[in-house]
Amino acid sequence: MDFQLTEEQRILKESVRRLAERHFAEKAFTWGDEYPWENAKILAENGLMGIRIPVEDGGQGGTLMDAVIAIMEIAKVCPQTADVLQAGNFGAIQQIAFLGNEFLKKEVLTKLLRGETIITPAMSEPNAGSAVTDLRTTARFDGDEVVINGSKVFNSNGDHAGYFCVWCRFGKGVESSGAVIVPDTASGFSRGKVEQHMSGEHYVSLYFDDCRVPKEYVLMSEEGFKKLLQVFNVERLGNSSRSLALAELAYEKSLQYSKERIQFDRPICEFQGIQWKFVDMKMRLEQARWLLYKAVVEADRGLPTTLDSSLAKLSCNEAAEYVCREAIQIHGGYGVSQEFPLAYLYERARGWMIAGGSVEMLRNRIASEILERRFSQRPPRPPKA
Ligand SMILES: Cc1cc2nc3c(=O)[nH]c(=O)nc-3n(C[C@H](O)[C@H](O)[C@H](O)COP(=O)(O)OP(=O)(O)OC[C@H]3O[C@@H](n4cnc5c(N)ncnc54)[C@H](O)[C@@H]3O)c2cc1C
Repeated sequence: MDFQLTEEQRILKESVRRLAERHFAEKAFTWGDEYPWENAKILAENGLMGIRIPVEDGGQGGTLMDAVIAIMEIAKVCPQTADVLQAGNFGAIQQIAFLGNEFLKKEVLTKLLRGETIITPAMSEPNAGSAVTDLRTTARFDGDEVVINGSKVFNSNGDHAGYFCVWCRFGKGVESSGAVIVPDTASGFSRGKVEQHMSGEHYVSLYFDDCRVPKEYVLMSEEGFKKLLQVFNVERLGNSSRSLALAELAYEKSLQYSKERIQFDRPICEFQGIQWKFVDMKMRLEQARWLLYKAVVEADRGLPTTLDSSLAKLSCNEAAEYVCREAIQIHGGYGVSQEFPLAYLYERARGWMIAGGSVEMLRNRIASEILERRFSQRPPRPPKA
C-alpha cells in the first residue's frame, strides 16, 4: 500500500497548478453571470478535457485519478473554471463516452472535447428530485425521430449549455427508462428564465413540447436507469473533488489568516480555541481525501462502485461544509464579507450536499450496500385482505 502520488501524478499536479496560476488566477471569483468560455478553450488546448476518455474517442486516455488531480488543482485557483472541467470530464459527457453510439461520439463528443460547448445532466423534475425514478418526461419513437414531452428543473448552467442529457421514459414502467441527448436547437425545446443558487450559480428549467430529434440522439431506450446511475457515479466523484478542493482552499486561507491576524497582542493561531478548529478541519479533510482516492483508484479506467462513490461524496460534501463554515468563523467579520471568497466557497460547498444525490439519499444508498438489501422509501402497502 502506498499513500503517495506517483511521480507522473506529481508532475501532472504541478503543471496543472502552474497553468491555473498563469491563466485563471487573475479573473478567479469575478466571472459573475459570464461562463468562462475563454478558459474552456485553454483547458482543451492543454489536454484537460476528456482526460479519462479513450484516445480512439478523442480523449486523452488517462485515468480517473488524473482527472481528479486536474479538477482539484484548477478548483483551488478558480472554482468557476473547475465547473468547465466538471462538464468536460465528469458530467453527462461520461454518459456519451460510456453509453453513446458512434453518431453521438462523432457529432456531440467532439465539440465537447474541443471546449466549444457543454452538456448538462437533465434528470430532476418538479416532482422527481430524490425520487428520480418518478420522472414523468416521456419519449416515443416516430419514424426516424424521437418525440419528447415534459420538463426539467435545476439544470446547472443550462443557459450556457448546447446539449442536455435528458433522462426520460419510453414506456410506463421503470424498465422503460432511458435518456436522449437533446441539442438546444431542437424544435419544441425551450429554456425558462435564468435563476440562481445562493452562490450565484445559474440554473434553468427546460421544457420539451413535442420536442423532436433524430433517433440517433437516443442514448438508451430501455433498462436505462441502472446503467445511467452507474455512470453517474463518476459525476459524483467530480462533485466530491470540487468539494474537497474548495475546503482545502478555505483551510489554507484560514491557516494563513490565523498567523497574521493579531488580537490581544498575539496572532489568533495562538488561541487554543482556534487551534482546535484546525485539528477538526484537518481530520475531516484527510478522511474525505482518502475515501475519495480509494473510490477513484479502484475505478481506474472503469466505473466507481456505488458504495465507494457514495462514501466519497458524503464525506467530501460534509467535510467541505464543515471546513468552509469554520473558515468563515476564523476570519471573523471578513469571513461573511462579499469582498472575500469565503462566503462563496461555503455557498458552493453547501449546494453540493444536495446536488447529485443529497447527503440523506447517500446515507440510504450506503445503508443498502452495507446491509445488502434494498429498503423501499415508499409508504408501506396496506396488507392484502
Ligand atoms: C447546486 C445544485 C445543482 C444542481 N444541478 C442539477 C443539474 O444540473 N441537473 C439536474 O437534473 N438536477 C440538478 N440539481 C437538482 C438536484 O439533483 C436535486 O435538488 C436533488 O436530487 C434533490 O431533489 P429536490 O431538490 O427535489 O429535493 P427533495 O427530493 O424534495 O428532498 C427534500 C429533502 O428531503 C430529503 N429526502 C428526500 N427523500 C428522502 C429519503 N428517502 N430519505 C431521507 N431523506 C430524504 C432530501 O435529502 C432533502 O433534504 C441540482 C441541485 C443543486 C442544489
